[in-house]
This record gives sequence, structure tokens and C-alpha cells, in this order.
Amino acid sequence: MDKPNDLMDKLVSLCKRRGFIFQSSEIYGGLNGCWDYGPLGVELKRNVKNLWWSDVVTSRDDMVGLDASVIMNPRVWEASGHVGGFADPMVDCRKCKGRFRADQLYYAVRQGQSRHGGTVSVGFSAIADKAQDALTAMELQLKKKGRQIREWSSDFEPIRYDQQQSDQTPCPVCGEQECLTAPRAFNLMLKTYMGALEDSSSLAYLRPETAQGIFCNFKNVLDTQRLKLPFGIAQVGKAFRNEINPRNYTFRSREFEQMEIEFFCHPSQADQWYKYWRQARFDWYINLGLGSQRLRLRDHDKDELAHYAANCADVEYAFPFGVSELEGIANRTDFDLKQHQECSGKDLTYYDDQTKERFLPYVIEPSAGVDRSVLAFLCEAYTEDEAPDDKGNPKKRVLMKLHPKLAPIKAAVFPLVKKDGMPEVAHKIYDDLKKRWNVFYDEKGAVGRRYRRQDEAGTPFCITVDGQTLQDQTVTIRDRDSLNQDRIGIDKIASYLSEHLGN
Ligand code: ATP
Repeated sequence: MDKPNDLMDKLVSLCKRRGFIFQSSEIYGGLNGCWDYGPLGVELKRNVKNLWWSDVVTSRDDMVGLDASVIMNPRVWEASGHVGGFADPMVDCRKCKGRFRADQLYYAVRQGQSRHGGTVSVGFSAIADKAQDALTAMELQLKKKGRQIREWSSDFEPIRYDQQQSDQTPCPVCGEQECLTAPRAFNLMLKTYMGALEDSSSLAYLRPETAQGIFCNFKNVLDTQRLKLPFGIAQVGKAFRNEINPRNYTFRSREFEQMEIEFFCHPSQADQWYKYWRQARFDWYINLGLGSQRLRLRDHDKDELAHYAANCADVEYAFPFGVSELEGIANRTDFDLKQHQECSGKDLTYYDDQTKERFLPYVIEPSAGVDRSVLAFLCEAYTEDEAPDDKGNPKKRVLMKLHPKLAPIKAAVFPLVKKDGMPEVAHKIYDDLKKRWNVFYDEKGAVGRRYRRQDEAGTPFCITVDGQTLQDQTVTIRDRDSLNQDRIGIDKIASYLSEHLGN
């Protein structure tokens, strides 16, 4: 069996080789915490976002969409608490200039990580030989402390223990003793300047979450769409966090995408809607192929809850590098609307015509990461098995068992050989299917190799035009996972694909 990080290394190499994910600005040596999605990756990511959108917005009558700007009035982030409190505790190594998150360092050491193998160093290969159990336990612990620290870091109290700890902790990169600084609160907001002047009056932030764009538009949406509670507003978009240690491939990036819902309801119904969304969001991942044994819903302990949250659960996936959060579902009470009402001076209450009651709605927030979902789907899909090569001998095969709805390419069309009129027939099939699905045409090289390339791309079906096609207008359709080949008429291909792809 592969060690967890061997699996990650193989996946990263496949993603590069096939064009799922590239390092950002690679020809200039890359940029830590930023990633580019290649031709296959962009299709996969788009499928994830579209499936989410159709599930939570267009198939429902109690949800509308929004696309707010990335840069908002800085007062938004003061009201939301991000300017004051959205920080992680950071320590520096005076010798090698390494920079780490104090909470990660603390738990890495406590869990018996070796000096040069702490999770605090950049990239997942640094934690390569550590046992899965230790990592899992550590991630959970980190999450607990990370949340608490983020909550309270502005007054420094809860991170004092880290200061003591870092005095005794050697640097996880260079191994030097007594070289780590005391932790300092490090704000995760990425800053920029708007307009001609670069001074404090023009300071602006790239949003660290899409949610605040929704809260700020609550009244606009309510008034223009003539909505009644309960209803939700959904948004997909980029978010930016100056993470101290981007790591684990795309899992913790500095630029990423979120899919967020703010579901507004009467306070008395909040618990019921919380339970509903907690389950609905968990089921969404299962239905798209994440194995139930690797996915779990974890309810937060009371001491883990943010002070404003009445309830919170995380959807977690067992990645090769540890069990980690894909999405959080929280009952945020009326905290956000209340904050914005106070700071903006605008009335954000809701008036119920029937009960004649005026109140601030409660909010249930399912907040998911697009990149983390994509990474979980990729990890789940990576499979190695054996399949016969062109001569019929068994040969190792790598395939991406992506759910057909997620697969970037739905079917590939091949002429068996590049002669006898086969390319013309195959091209005609390709042109017809292209009108409806993202299909791929390939006539170069041995057919076995063409199959394998599509297996790695996660393409569910390969359609081959052969000698018999020219006689009886039938083709073979090969199933990526079972390797079964059905022979069907050319006129039946579209209905076959429609049935098996589910659209
Ligand atoms: P973590 O504890 O892992 O830092 P978080 O609890 O701070 O995450 P939230 O603020 O709840 O995350 O953000 C909602 C979702 O956004 C997360 O569940 C995750 O999927 C995604 N997300 C947050 N930070 C990042 C990041 N740095 N890179 C990629 N996705 C992220």
C-alpha cells in the first residue's frame, strides 16, 4: 500500500501531466499558495460549481444568487470583525528566517513530529513519513486551537501558552534550538490600495470570504425580489487569505474559491434549518462520489464554537495528509446582520406582514471551498489497477474514477486506425456529440495508449470506430471503470451517453 504522501505525490504528478493543476507562474519559479487550473482542471472545477449552483439555487424556489465585488468598502471588514480579529499566531526563526503558525508548531511538536518533519514546513512532503493517526489527531487539535486563536488573537490572551512552548521548540526547518520568536498576531487579510494615492485613506482589502457581500446585499435582495422568509442567497467567488503556511497542495491556498449560502429564517426556525442544511450538504458530496467511509460530519464541541455561533458542523474528508475540513455549516444567529446594522446605521430588519413582527433574521451558513472539494474528488478518484495492453498482456493502469457528472471530458472518439475511411466516420460522430457534451477526438498512436490517456483524464467512455463500423454502422463503447465494451449502433450513441452520464 502507498504511504499517504506517495499517493499525494502521484496525484500531483498526474494533475500536472494531464493538465488538471499547474503551479502559478511556474516559469518564474511559482508563487507560494497560488495555483492554476489547466484545461482539464478548469472543466472539473466548473462542473463542481455548476452542480452546486443547480443543487442549491436553480432547482429550488427559496434561493437566489448573487455576484458581489471582491473589493468592498473597508468598513465592511471592520463590522465583520476581520480587520480586528482575523489573525493567526505567527512565529519566526531568527536563524533560517522560516515562518510558522504557532498553533501548528505547538501541536506538531506535541504529537512527536521529528525536528525536520514538522507539518509547519511548506508542502506536504515534509510530513511524509508520519503515521496517519498522528496526523488526523493533530489536524483535529489544530482546528480547535486555530479557531480559538482566530477568535481571540486581538487580545493575545489564549496564545500565551504558545510563547512558552516556542521557547523550548527547535525550528522545524533548520533544527536550531531557542531561535523562535514569541508568537505575534498575523492578520490574514490581503491588502491593496484603490485609486491614485497609496496611503491609509485608500487602503482596501481583498475579501477573505464571500459571505459579507451577501450580508451587505440582504436588504437589496429582499426588496427587489419580493422574497418571504425563509430564503437563501448563494454566491460563488474568489476569496483571499494571506495564510502563513500555504500547504497540502491546493488545500490551503492564498487565493481560492468559495461556494457560500446565507439562509435567512425566523429565529424560532433556525435550529430546524441548521439540521436540514447540515444533512443536505453532507449528502451532496456523497452523491457526487465521495466515499462515505472517508467523509464525515463532525459537530463542533461547545468550546470550539465561535462566540456568535449557536451550532456548527464540519464536513470533513480523510485526505492522504489527514482528515480536514471541506465545508462548515453554522447557525450564525443574527450576529452578522446585527453588526452591519449597527456599523452602517441602516435598518436591516425584516417585517412579517402576517404576524406583524419586526426582527433580524437568523442565518444558517453552509460555507464550502471549491478548491478543497476539487482536491477531495481528485484524491477519491485516483485509482491504480491492471488492464490488458495492445498485445493483451496485463499492465498497470492509472485511472481517475471521477463521477460522470464531474468528468471534464464525457467521451472520447477514436478511429481504430488512421485509414480506410475510419477517421471521417469518427469525426462525424465527434462533431455531432460536441454539440451537447465536452467530447474529445484522437486519432494519434496505438489505440491502447489513447485509452490510457483518457483513463488518466477521467473520461467515462471511449467510442471506437473500427472495421466493423464500416460494414454495419456500429461502434464499441468502452467503460472506463469496468473496461466492458458494448457494441451499439451509431444512432444509439447519444441516448447511451445520456443514460449513463445522467444528463
Ligand atoms: P481552516 O480551519 O482550514 O483554515 P476555516 O475554518 O478558516 O478553514 P472558513 O473560514 O470556515 O474556513 O471558510 C469556509 C471554507 O472555505 C472552508 O471550509 C474551506 O473549504 C475554504 N477555505 C478556507 N480557507 C481556505 C484556504 N486557505 N484555501 C482553500 N480553501 C479555503
